[in-house]
Amino acid sequence: MATEKEMDLSGEKLSVSDFSLGKTLGTGAFGRVRFVTHKSSGRHYALKTLKKAAIIKMKQVDHIMSEKQILAKLQHPFIVNMFGSFHDPRYIYMVLEYIVGGEFFTHLRKAGRFDNEQSLFYAAQITCIFEYCHELNIVYRDLKPENILINADGYVKLTDFGFAKVIEHRTYTLCGTPEYIAPEVLLNKGHGKPVDWWTLGILIYEMIVGYPPFVDEDPMGIYQKILAGKITFPKIFHKEAKSLVKKLLTPDLGKRFGNLKNGAADIKEHKWFKDLSWDDLLAKKIEAPFKPAVKGATDTSNFDDYPDSDQEPPAVNASQDPFTNW
Ligand code: AMP
Repeated sequence: MATEKEMDLSGEKLSVSDFSLGKTLGTGAFGRVRFVTHKSSGRHYALKTLKKAAIIKMKQVDHIMSEKQILAKLQHPFIVNMFGSFHDPRYIYMVLEYIVGGEFFTHLRKAGRFDNEQSLFYAAQITCIFEYCHELNIVYRDLKPENILINADGYVKLTDFGFAKVIEHRTYTLCGTPEYIAPEVLLNKGHGKPVDWWTLGILIYEMIVGYPPFVDEDPMGIYQKILAGKITFPKIFHKEAKSLVKKLLTPDLGKRFGNLKNGAADIKEHKWFKDLSWDDLLAKKIEAPFKPAVKGATDTSNFDDYPDSDQEPPAVNASQDPFTNW
């Protein structure tokens, strides 16, 4: 395994021709993420490619800029590493560490649901991530199974900081996954750090049950259920997991776990986690309860197939390009 220093390309002047492009691993609103090989070093990465013109048209320049700045700042074992960035007239690029195990979402859907041990293992890692981000005043705001990747070692890597914010911002539009929206966001009463703890509650519930606590065919129905706040816990729910989820899915921000004076410590000291060594977890000394089938560092079989042909987007004139310092 190459060290982070060896993987680092931030000092190099890069262009897309430095990479041989492989399979598309996933797509987003403004582009796609591809498996790539850096030709001169032979190292493998995930290259996130975003169309400049589309970002400008959708007025998302600030969001994308902040995604890159936030990623550059974050150094955490459970967060995807960024190793470089560059741009050309049509695209901006982020060179990311390649996470070979695929999306958590795929594994959860395949399994139906996770047992208590596996759910706890992932929930604990997300807790560490949020604790770390919040200390840096970064709110993630978009936790969902699609944004969590699983590495060969079975540990998670959080990706997609396109929604993350360094500070709170009032103009939050109602996009994202309806099932994971916190009540205070629906009520437009702010959406700071407590939002992340709410989404952790939703994720724990979804891992254990197989679907989120507030479901409906129609987003409006989901919103109504979130605001009504009634949660049904099936019998399979571990008693202590249920206790924690209730404390996270508390609409009252003054009572929500993670948002009290002890912060994340209240969650880490909750009895659901009583047998967990947080230091061992951070040091990845705990054997993961599940490891994805991986044939090697270049295996992309854990990712779905996406059509590869993409219409070439328009080039952005240098004089109107907000990304010249990318
Ligand atoms: P994003 O636009 O960041 O949400 O990425 C879209 C999709 O690309 C994700 O849902 C993943 O399936 C895939 N992806 C993103 N980053 C990586 C990565 N570092 N390694 C492997 N796949 C990734």
